[in-house]
Amino acid sequence: MISLDLMELADCFAPEELVNCIFQQCPQLKAPIPVEQIAQRVGICEIQPLPGDSENIEGMLCSEPAKDCGVIFFNKSRPIGRQRFTIGHELGHFLLPTHASGERKCTASDFKKNSNTEESEANEFAQKLLLPSHLLTPEINDQAFNIELINKLSVLFQMSFEATAIAAIPLSSEPVAIVFTKNRKVKYAWRNLKHFKYKLKVFKGSDLPESYEVPDLKANAVSEFIEFCENDWLEGAPKLGPELEIYGQTLVQEKGYSAILLKINSLSSFA
Ligand SMILES: [Zn+2]
Repeated sequence: MISLDLMELADCFAPEELVNCIFQQCPQLKAPIPVEQIAQRVGICEIQPLPGDSENIEGMLCSEPAKDCGVIFFNKSRPIGRQRFTIGHELGHFLLPTHASGERKCTASDFKKNSNTEESEANEFAQKLLLPSHLLTPEINDQAFNIELINKLSVLFQMSFEATAIAAIPLSSEPVAIVFTKNRKVKYAWRNLKHFKYKLKVFKGSDLPESYEVPDLKANAVSEFIEFCENDWLEGAPKLGPELEIYGQTLVQEKGYSAILLKINSLSSFA
C-alpha cells in the first residue's frame, strides 16, 4: 500500500528532492516502480491512452488550476518502457510546483531535453523515480558490467534499454562507456566519468571509426566483446597502461540502430 503525504511533497521544488521525498515516505518501493499507483495516490484520477491521431505526441497532462486533480495520457503505440517513462514525465509536470497547470502536450524531442527547462526537469524526475540509484546499485555491484546486465536491469525495472543504460553507466565501478548509433552515425555517447578517464573520439553527429564493423547479427542480438583499436575510439592517442585494452560489445537493434558498450580492461578479465 502506497501512502504519500501531499503536504511534504508540496515543499519540494527540485526533481531530485521530490523523488527523494517519495522514497523516504515509501521505503518499501521496489523494481519495477509502480508509477501508476504513485500517480493515483497524489491526485492523478485517470491514466489513459491518447486518442487515435496522436502519433507525434508522447504524453499529455490535463490538470485543474490548483493541480489537486489531473489526467495523464500516454501514447500506447510505444513500448512499455517508453509508456512508463511518459507517465513518470507527466507526473513530474503535475508535482513540480513551478510547472503551470492546464493542458500540456509533450513530444519525443521534449523527452531529449536535458538542461534548464521544465521538460528537462520532468525528464530528470521520471529517470530518478523509475531507475533509482539506490535500487540499481545493489544489482550492479559485484556483476561484470556488460550489455546482458543492462538488458536484465531493463527487464527488472521495465524501462527501455537506453534509459536503463544511461542510469546504470555512472553507477558502475568499471571504466565503461556507451555509444548509441544509427546507420554508423553517433546519436550520442555516455561514459562513466569517474572510471572511464579518456575522452571519446566519437560524439553526437560523428561517424563511427572505419575500423568498426557492425556485427552481422539479427535484431536484438548481442555480440561478444571484441578488442578495438584505442586510437580510433579515444582522443589523444592515450597510453592505457600495461595489459589494458579497449573492448567493445554491440547490441544490434532494429532499423539501423545499435548500441556499443566500450570497456577498458585486461584480456584476462574476459577469460
Ligand atoms: Zn513534458
